[in-house]
Amino acid sequence: MFSLEVFPPKRTAPVGTIYDTLDGLTGLSPHFISVTYGTGKSADRTATARIAHTVRAEYGIPAVAHLTAQYLTEDSAEEALAMFDEAKVAGVLALRGDRNPDREPAGVFHYANELTAFIRERRPDMKIYGACYPEKHPQADTLDHDIDNLKRKVDAGVTHLISQLFYDNSDFLRFLDKARAAGITVPIEAGIMPPVNARSVRHMAGMCSSKIPERLATLLDHWQDDPNTLKTAGILYASEQINDLLARGVDGIHLYTMNHPCVTRRIWTNVQDLFA
Ligand code: FAD
Repeated sequence: MFSLEVFPPKRTAPVGTIYDTLDGLTGLSPHFISVTYGTGKSADRTATARIAHTVRAEYGIPAVAHLTAQYLTEDSAEEALAMFDEAKVAGVLALRGDRNPDREPAGVFHYANELTAFIRERRPDMKIYGACYPEKHPQADTLDHDIDNLKRKVDAGVTHLISQLFYDNSDFLRFLDKARAAGITVPIEAGIMPPVNARSVRHMAGMCSSKIPERLATLLDHWQDDPNTLKTAGILYASEQINDLLARGVDGIHLYTMNHPCVTRRIWTNVQDLFA
C-alpha cells in the first residue's frame, strides 16, 4: 500500500495552490491521499472536506480526511462527519491533535480513542485511521505505555494506522514488533518525510522527539548551504528507507508530501517498481 498526505494551503495563499500540488501528483496512483486538519485560530474548518472532495471527484483518488478532537464538541464533531459524508471520503484519520496555546480545548474528547469511539458508534461502517509513534509520542513516558494506549484506540474502532515520521528504520521495526506483540493486528503504514531541508528536518525532529541518525546528521551538516544537493541527498535517503522497509515486508508507505510534488515524484520514480 502506498499513500500520500497533503495539507490545505494557508488562508492567505491563492486557492489554486492545492491544484498545483494535486496536478503535480497526477499519475502516481496512491491508494489514498489524506488531507490534514488545522487547529490554528485562523484554520478554515471546511478546508479538509473541500480538498478531500476535490481529491476524489476531480482526481479520482480516494481521500482520507484528518479530524482533530480537542476542540470539538459532539455537535461540531457530527458536523465535520456530515461534511466528510458529503465529500464521500474513504475514511477519517481520528486524532487528538496538539494543544494550541491560544485556545482552550472543548473538554469533550481528551484522547483520540474517545473520538474514535464516537465515530464508530455513529458510522459503524466507516474506515477509521489512527496515528502511531515508532519512537513513542513525546508525551508518553515509555514506548510500552504508548502502545497500551494505541491498543485502546484500535479496540475503540481504528482499522488502519499511519506512523509519525522517523529517520531510522530500526525504530519503526522495533515498534512494529512491540505493537504486534501487544495484539495490534490492523495494517500499519510507515510514515516517511523526505529530509530535503536541513532546518525543517531539525525542527520536525525536535517537535516529534525523533532521532536524527548520524548518517543523516552528516548529510545535513555537509549540504545545508547547498539546497539542491541536499534535496537530491534527502530524496535518496527517503528512497533507501522505503526500499529497506518494503524488503522487510511492511504493510505500506505513507509519504508526507509537504505539498512538494516534485520531491514526491522523484521518490516515486526510485521506488515504484517495488510496489508492482
Ligand atoms: P492520542 O492517540 O490521543 O495520544 C496522545 C497521547 O496521549 C499519547 O502520549 C498517548 O500515549 C496518550 N494517550 C492516548 N490515549 C490515552 C488515554 N485514553 N488515556 C491516557 N493517555 C492516553 N495534528 C493536527 O493538528 N492535524 C493533523 O491533520 C494531523 N495529522 C497527523 C497525522 C499523522 C499520521 C500523525 C502521526 C500525526 C498527526 N497530527 C496532526 C499530530 C497529532 O495531532 C499529534 O501528534 C497529537 O499530539 C497526538 O494525536 P494522537 O491522535 O496520536 O493522540
